[in-house]
Amino acid sequence: MAACLFCQIINRELNASIVYEDERVVAFNDINAQGPTHVLVVPRKHIASLNDLTADDDESVGELVRRAAAIAKSRGISAAGYRTVFNTNRDAGQTVFHIHLHLIGGRPMNWPPG
Ligand code: AMP
Ligand code: ZN
Repeated sequence: MAACLFCQIINRELNASIVYEDERVVAFNDINAQGPTHVLVVPRKHIASLNDLTADDDESVGELVRRAAAIAKSRGISAAGYRTVFNTNRDAGQTVFHIHLHLIGGRPMNWPPG
């Protein structure tokens, strides 16, 4: 999946500000941050969207969510709160088709989102 932007970041073919990585998960700062913290947490495995998940992916999706919570804790924003979002396809505004969990925090946010 050389054409995928996030695969390129994972493979270090494209620069990003990586804040965490292990065998299955990589996290990096969003290039267009929507808050003091805006981190994208992604699986190393290329999966285009939530629509493409299988039961085999359950563990790694769980890791994305727990990693987002751990990063929030490390930033000191756990108690105040933060938002975690997966955008899927057109109506949600998905622009990069490699699943990524947005972790946004460090400021109050509105609900519902736009
Ligand atoms: P989405 O709209 O949910 O697909 O989110 C894609 C996110 O990727 C957006 O928030 C972009 O700002 C972010 N993004 C795009 N290119 C890069 C990049 N090269 N490095 C870091 N974040 C990026
Ligand atoms: Zn990819």
